[in-house]
Amino acid sequence: MPTFVRTEKCDGCKDQDRTACMYICPHDLMKLDKYGSETGHAMMAYNQEPEQCWECYACVKICPQNAVECRHYADVVPLGGSVQPLRGTDSIMWTIKFRNGTMKRFKFPIRTTVEGSIDPYAGKPEADMAKIEDNGFFNHMEQKGYRAGDRSELIKL
Ligand code: SF4
Ligand code: SF4
Repeated sequence: MPTFVRTEKCDGCKDQDRTACMYICPHDLMKLDKYGSETGHAMMAYNQEPEQCWECYACVKICPQNAVECRHYADVVPLGGSVQPLRGTDSIMWTIKFRNGTMKRFKFPIRTTVEGSIDPYAGKPEADMAKIEDNGFFNHMEQKGYRAGDRSELIKL
C-alpha cells in the first residue's frame, strides 16, 4: 500500500530546504527530485522505495497540497477506489471513494487545544546534557527515579 505523488498537485513545498513529506516520513522514503533527473518531474517529490513504505499515511496527511495518495491493495480498496484524508487545524476529513463512484466523507476532531499552543516541556526541568549518556530520561528524578514494578498498576483486560 505504498504512497505515490500526484505530479499535477505537488509544488515541491515551494523549494524549501526540506519538504513536508521528507520531514515526516519515518523511513526517509520521500525525496524531492529537484532537477527532474530521476523522475522527469523537476521540483516534485516521489516515494523512492515504495516496497519499503510503512503505509503509515504520515506523508499523505501532512502534504499541504493533498498531493500524496496511497496505492491500496486491491483486496482492501478495489481498483478505482481511494481513501484520502484532508487534515485541517482542528479536524481531519476522510474521503472514501468507492469503485462505483459512491463517495462518503467522515470528519473527526483531532485536537482539543489550539494548534501550536502546547508546550511539551512546560514545568519540566532543563535537560542536563552532561547526563546524555546515562540511563533514564531527563526528568526521571522528578518522577522519583526508578522504582520496582507494581503488579497492581498493570492494565488488566
Ligand atoms: S509535501 Fe506534498 S507538496 Fe510538498 S513536496 Fe511532498 S508531495 Fe509535494
Ligand atoms: S506512508 Fe509513511 S512510510 Fe510510507 S512514504 Fe509516507 S510517511 Fe513514509
